[in-house]
Amino acid sequence: MSAKSAFYISSLLILPVLYVVFITMHLTTLHEPITQWLPHWDRLLMLFTVIGLERLYTYRYTVSQRHVLVRDIFANIVNLYITAAVAAYLLLPLLQFIPQHFLGRRHLVASPQVLGPIWFQIPVLLVSVGLFRYWMHRWQHSNEFLWKLHSYHHRVTDLKAMNGEVSNPVDFALRNVIVFLMLGIVGFSPFAILISFTVANITAIFSHCGADVRGGFLNYLFVTPEVHRWHHAVDVPKGYGYSCNYGVEFAFWDVIFRTYYLPQENGQTVQPERIGHPSGIPDEGNYLKILLEPFGLYPRFRGPHPAE
Ligand SMILES: [Zn+2]
Ligand SMILES: [Zn+2]
Repeated sequence: MSAKSAFYISSLLILPVLYVVFITMHLTTLHEPITQWLPHWDRLLMLFTVIGLERLYTYRYTVSQRHVLVRDIFANIVNLYITAAVAAYLLLPLLQFIPQHFLGRRHLVASPQVLGPIWFQIPVLLVSVGLFRYWMHRWQHSNEFLWKLHSYHHRVTDLKAMNGEVSNPVDFALRNVIVFLMLGIVGFSPFAILISFTVANITAIFSHCGADVRGGFLNYLFVTPEVHRWHHAVDVPKGYGYSCNYGVEFAFWDVIFRTYYLPQENGQTVQPERIGHPSGIPDEGNYLKILLEPFGLYPRFRGPHPAE
């Protein structure tokens, strides 16, 4: 076997291996002290694993993202440690108030048992999360204001592990946090939510892997880097409107709703040569701008001081 085909075959195994390793690790460390002193340690380990893959399986159209590294680090810290906590603090009371006020009960479903055993709740959760995130993401491309928020994520000029979380926190929360809060309120088992969250996020992080890894038939099921690069292509494929491949973790939603795009040539997938904003707007290394500009707050920082 040539070194080239060995690399190709080994790259096909990466996603299944990541799934087995990270889910097993999650299940065996649920009550370990590390979960207390380093929250989200598994997400950080996943991030560094993907960075390692980028060094090993170098991608031919790679574009250095070093000039925006500080912005990427800020975006990771904010969206990993602050966004979900703030969104939960602000939205949970509201999400609890709605069923209480309109249906006269505190929770939509009284106990997790009503929703069936854990093994049943996990696939139900994965389908609900995937479907919600697919349509929310599609809306974030078609609605003018939501696109203003979301378009920062589309300014990156290459997919890398470090820029998967580069997005305005409101944009991030709409797609990645709200659905889990809603499902928690419905009454799903916290354990089933935790496992679904891990399963969904392994692919979500992997989708931004900047390595030359291949998905094979998994490209139709999961959002692999091959699939997600087309979502970030500067040139949107003809006939696909705003974009293609909106799935966050599962690509089969795009297959079902006819937004899937991954061309092949001689049995090999073709990748877009240029990644970036579809209107050609350059990337932005200033994190404050990502945070404030969509709300019209950023220009004030740049204008002259009123006293001048
Ligand atoms: Zn998008
Ligand atoms: Zn992306």
